[in-house]
Amino acid sequence: MALLIQKFGGTSVGNIERIHRIAELIERTCQTGNQVVVVLSAMSGETDRLWRLAHDVTPHPDARELDVLLSSGERVTIALLAMKLRSRGINARSFTGRQVGIVTNSSHTRARIAKVTADPVRRALAEGVLPIVAGFQGVNERSEVTTLGRGGSDLTAVALAATLQADRCVIFTDVDGVSTADPNVVPTARRIPKLSYEEMLELSSLGAKVLQARSVEFAAKYSVPVEVKSSFQEGEGTLVTHEDVDMERAVVSGVTGDRNQAKITVVGVPDQPGIAANLFGAVAGASVLVDMIIQNVSHQDSLTDISFTVPRNDLARAMALVKRTANEIGARSVEVTEKIAKVSLVGVGMRSHSGVASRMFQTLAREKMNIMMISTSEIKISCVLDEENLNKAVQALHKEFGLESPRETGKIH
Ligand code: ADP
Ligand code: ASP
Ligand code: MG
Repeated sequence: MALLIQKFGGTSVGNIERIHRIAELIERTCQTGNQVVVVLSAMSGETDRLWRLAHDVTPHPDARELDVLLSSGERVTIALLAMKLRSRGINARSFTGRQVGIVTNSSHTRARIAKVTADPVRRALAEGVLPIVAGFQGVNERSEVTTLGRGGSDLTAVALAATLQADRCVIFTDVDGVSTADPNVVPTARRIPKLSYEEMLELSSLGAKVLQARSVEFAAKYSVPVEVKSSFQEGEGTLVTHEDVDMERAVVSGVTGDRNQAKITVVGVPDQPGIAANLFGAVAGASVLVDMIIQNVSHQDSLTDISFTVPRNDLARAMALVKRTANEIGARSVEVTEKIAKVSLVGVGMRSHSGVASRMFQTLAREKMNIMMISTSEIKISCVLDEENLNKAVQALHKEFGLESPRETGKIH
């Protein structure tokens, strides 16, 4: 008998009819003799709606209260599904994050999991009860409600799978798996049958929201096999697991785009030791993740410009700190460009292949797109562009690297 975690995203519980459908799917899984723990998101659009409500009340809502509000969406779906299953004669019971013992730190709206006890879930399973757990939420050590960042139900599912040592964590969503690009941007994108944690983590961190990046990090750390598949149609999905020998060593596995970017330029900074440490120390202190950084060669007057990118959601927080530090270090001004985006290529085969970057730059040049910033790692290359070029860039690169046809593969090393 296998223990499976089945997580259903927002569209899969988006209305009552869909809740009926997943109740049937869950019932079928239980009938095959497997033990199941279900994790649910809020109905699609609900977390955004609650976020807007809070910001209609006040532009800077209190973070503790915001989490109380945001976590309510998942309470609705777990109760509705438990009712539905019970009406079909299945002994289902809903659990909030607090009830299953998901303990986090106190960083409201982006809390990190510190501990998962899951004892009530274990007890429920032992009694033959089907647990339906609210995703995206936990409590801090003072029992105050926290949320795990957008897409955080994926993390709840993976964390429960790790704690309960489940055989698999299945993420049901509105696409048939992880593809070579977002199928809503590139209709010819192909499903990738198997991916390593490392590649998936890059894809997620670089904008493929099909899995939350932190959930992939967690899955890799605890070796949780994660399967992404459609809740709307039967069929294979994508298995995310440790790299193994029968995995395709694609030079490029996928193309991804990220609009959640903004560029800050500090103009006229004295070109002397300690300046970058001051500037980035202040930003890091506020838990804002700086991604790409460019420092220009200094002008004749020993002044330079430093540009860097931050998540657009964190721009206001970052700007407050950067302006203050820029003042202290005597910089001339601070400029912001919001309408930028990042396009990235990911593939473990890049480790052993050269020439991918130049081919990427040539493709973007052919499309007459200006590259503002570049960053690379062993298995990815990212370019920052004007936001309006993003979809076209993703489509052009997807074509250039032959991702819709059988893939270019590199040697296994
Ligand atoms: P859920 O509500 O089920 O959690 P999400 O909206 O969070 O679903 O994630 C699924 C979406 O991720 C898809 O609808 C798709 O538009 C998007 N997506 C982005 N990149 C990819 C990719 N490489 N492969 C598959 N889907 C992707
Ligand atoms: N409802 C939350 C969100 O929309 C969590 C999730 O769906 O994973 O971000
Ligand atoms: Mg999601």
